Formats: sequence, C-alpha cells, structure tokens
Amino acid sequence: MTTATPFRPSGRHHVVIIGGGFGGLFAAKKFAGADVDVTIIDRTNHHLFQPLLYQVATGVLSSGEIAPTIRQILRKQKNARVIKAEVRDVNVDDKIITADLGGKDVVLQYDSLIVAAGASQSYFGNDHFAEFAPGMKSIDDALELRARITGAFERAEITDDPAEKARQLTFVIVGAGPTGVELAGQLAEMAHRTLRNEFRTTDTEQTRILLVDGGPQVLPPFGKKLGRKAQKTLEKLGVEVVTDSLVTNVDRDGVTWKNMKTDEETTVAAYCKIWSAGVAASPLGKHIADQIDGVEADRAGRVPVNKDLSVGDHKEIFIIGDMMSLDKLPGLAQVAIQGGEHVASLIRAEVEDGVTDRPDFKYFDKGTMAIVSRFNAVVKLDKAEISGPIGWFMWLAVHLMFMVGFRNRFVAAYSWGLNTLSANRWHLVATRQQLHARNALRKLRTLEDEQNIRSIEVRDNLKFGDGRDTRAVSD
Ligand SMILES: Cc1cc2nc3c(=O)[nH]c(=O)nc-3n(C[C@H](O)[C@H](O)[C@H](O)COP(=O)(O)OP(=O)(O)OC[C@H]3O[C@@H](n4cnc5c(N)ncnc54)[C@H](O)[C@@H]3O)c2cc1C
Repeated sequence: MTTATPFRPSGRHHVVIIGGGFGGLFAAKKFAGADVDVTIIDRTNHHLFQPLLYQVATGVLSSGEIAPTIRQILRKQKNARVIKAEVRDVNVDDKIITADLGGKDVVLQYDSLIVAAGASQSYFGNDHFAEFAPGMKSIDDALELRARITGAFERAEITDDPAEKARQLTFVIVGAGPTGVELAGQLAEMAHRTLRNEFRTTDTEQTRILLVDGGPQVLPPFGKKLGRKAQKTLEKLGVEVVTDSLVTNVDRDGVTWKNMKTDEETTVAAYCKIWSAGVAASPLGKHIADQIDGVEADRAGRVPVNKDLSVGDHKEIFIIGDMMSLDKLPGLAQVAIQGGEHVASLIRAEVEDGVTDRPDFKYFDKGTMAIVSRFNAVVKLDKAEISGPIGWFMWLAVHLMFMVGFRNRFVAAYSWGLNTLSANRWHLVATRQQLHARNALRKLRTLEDEQNIRSIEVRDNLKFGDGRDTRAVSD
C-alpha cells in the first residue's frame, strides 16, 4: 500500500524507466532534448557492461572500467533524473511505482513506464547451490568470484595434503554458454600463464578446469562448427569439457553431475565452483503481468509483449530486454538496446508530434561473439562464421564501441593490449568482504527472520518478490 504522495517532476509527460542496464540506459539517452521528463531508477548506481564481468572476475579489468555511474553518463541530459532505489511495487491501474532506498519509500507517478530490470541467475529450483557456486550477474558477483579464484590458489599453497591441494586447484564452471566459455579460457590463462611463477609450493600448471553443460556442445547459439572450434581451443588450453551432463549437486566439497546418455554419476572435489547456467527474468515482470488481463509470464519470468513492446491493453507500459518474450529473441545486449531505442522513439513521436500509429519492433541481428582465449574469438554474423584472430579483433572493436565513456574505452584497450603482451594481471586485489559478504548477509537475514526484526543491511539486500517487508528498520 502506498502512503507517500507520488512524485512527478513537472506537468510534462513523465517517463519512468526501471533499470539502467542496456535497455533502460539506451532508452533514456534517446529522450535527450525531448519534451518529456525522464526518471531512470536502478537499485545500483551504475550501468553495468555485463559481457565483461568475467574480465573483472579474472583480474583483467577493474570494476569501474565496466560500470560507470548512471548519473555521470546522464549528467548533461537535463530532462533526465536518476534515482538509486529498488523497485518493489508497480501499481498498474494507478500508474504508480514504489521503490525502496535503505528503508525509505520512493513513490513515482508515471505517464509511460519502461521496464528494463533484466534477469538474474537461475539455479533451476536448486537455489541452495548459490551458497557454494556464485553466479555472475553483478559487480558484487564478479568480485566475490575473484576472491574465490585467488583464494583457491592461496589455500592450495598452504596445504601439504595432496588431495586437498588438488581440490583447491580444481575449478568447476557450470554452463558452457559464452560466459562459461570465456571464464574457462581466462582461468586457464591465469593458471598457466599469470600465476605460473608466483607460488612456491604450488604448481599452478596442475590446475584442473572443468566446464560442465547439460547440452551436447559448448556455445549452442553459435552452431555446431563454431562450438567444436571453441571446444578444441579450450582443450588446447587444458580445459576439460564435459557435455550432456546435468549437475545434480553442489556443496562445500565439490560438484556432482549425471551423464544424460549413460546415467553415470561423477563427483569432483573442488573449492571454487562457478554457476553460469540459466537465467530468470526479474520478478517485476510477473508482478506486472499478474495485474493485466490475458498476460502471463512464462516459466523463466519473461513477459509476452505486443509487437510495439507494450504489454496487453496497457499501451503506456513497455517491457524490454531480458524481461520480454517476443519472437524467441535471445537475451542479448543488442535486443535490449534496440528495444529501448524503439520504445523511446515511439513515446517521443506520440508526445511531441501526436503520432498515433505505432511501428512494430524490428530487431536487427548484429551477430554474437565470444572470446575463447588470447587472439581467439568466435563470431556468428548471420550466416558467416568467423573464428581465430580475425574474430578476436572483431570482438575487440565491438566491445570498445559499446563501452560507455572515452576513458573506459581507452583504459580497457590499454589493459587488453598489456594483457596480450604480458602474462601479468593488474586487478587481482581481493578482500574478505568480497568473499564473505553475500553469504554473511543471507545468514543474517535468516537469523533476523527467526527473531522477526529487520536491519538496514538486510533490508537493502532484499530481492523483489520476497514481498514488501514492513518490519521496523534500525536506520
Ligand atoms: C556475464 C554475462 C555475460 C554476457 N555476455 C553477453 C555478450 O557477450 N553479448 C551479449 O549481447 N549479451 C551478453 N549478455 C547479456 C546481456 O548483458 C543482457 O542481455 C543485457 O544486459 C540485457 O539488458 P537489460 O536492459 O534487459 O537488463 P540489464 O542490462 O541486466 O539491466 C537491468 C538493470 O535493472 C536493474 N534492476 C533490476 N531489478 C531492479 C529493481 N527491482 N529496481 C531497480 N532496478 C532494478 C539492475 O540493477 C540493472 O542495472 C551477458 C550477460 C551476462 C550476465
């Protein structure tokens, strides 16, 4: 229930955008100079370039290089304001959204709503795996993974027990999509190149990296040929690729999977486990769909949208990017970017020029790419399939083009140049907070639930869908 007076900046048409990721940010930018007020609201203060998270996790880039603040990006766009708060409620009938900033309600009235809250990791109903196998969706995740990866080598260095050393030096990545493949390649280069001379009692060349997937090949969206090429490159780097195998357990000690063809179960002892399989759309989508007749979110939480990306008979609500379901479009940055720009142009035309005919959204496929190792990437551009160094240069150009901010592009290009020429990585700093904070907060929340209290730290960490938490907060 909403108690505060809903905010609107002026009498102009007010566009509220939930999410400052690819869809939300590009929509906001498209409103530059428009005769509307734009409020972009995100639970973090930054726009995250998710495709490069694995480079933060493996020490190639620092977090700031892939996550400029949304305020900084939009500082010159006078009709745009930024609010850092987590949206907890959308009241579709009253056109009001309620968000939470550290226990304080933020209530906004909208004329048009663009929902671009993205997706989170899905453990396919095995959420307890998350304690031992973090996913990679946020800066926090990447920093935690970095601390786990470097921590594994540190732990290996101080043990005399060969079995324990082997466990510490075994890394299991679940999910052989682009993120899993890119991480596996980076981990192999880190173990065999970067860290080779840095330890005294540990031979980092003995590191085992296993990439496990339920499907028959790595990189399924790239097709069989590129999948095979990527697998060969990974195997040359020493990565063990395990296909047709479903993970059945993840615990403190390791990972168990079952081969779908032979039913054989394998358990591998590993300290560092990484989850890169499966995504679920933000629960905001289902929350909105549940209020609109005839609209139902699918099993992954995606909401079916009309051809113009609006939802049901609510022509003022648009759902874009990873949260929308339309023509089986994949969860890719370009789908979100083009969706955001389409919706913003459409709203502008209606508000400024009174246009009433809405064009359908048409996705232009600019291709997909994944880096496998130094000088080696796979690229699928319509029917063209490119791999090796040419793919790598294309990957480089595209990622530099889409990074936000000149400085970030410059620093990333410099880091990639150095990383190609030298074995060193300059961003391997890891702290105890990075390693423990996520699980510590989760445990604190369980304790607080038992005692029916709520502290600011835990409330901040609440996920949408857990319900609005109205217990007293110690601020
Ligand atoms: C590790 C990784 C690698 C990837 N690699 C590639 C790649 O190589 N190529 C490619 O095309 N795509 C890649 N993707 C997918 C791509 O990043 C997504 O498709 C794209 O980010 C979707 O954009 P979006 O705007 O829908 O959501 P996002 O970019 O995820 O943005 C969602 C935003 O909403 C905010 N938010 C969420 N919930 C709330 C709430 N309740 N209140 C307020 N704010 C909220 C989040 O903080 C976030 O800023 C990758 C994704 C990941 C995770």
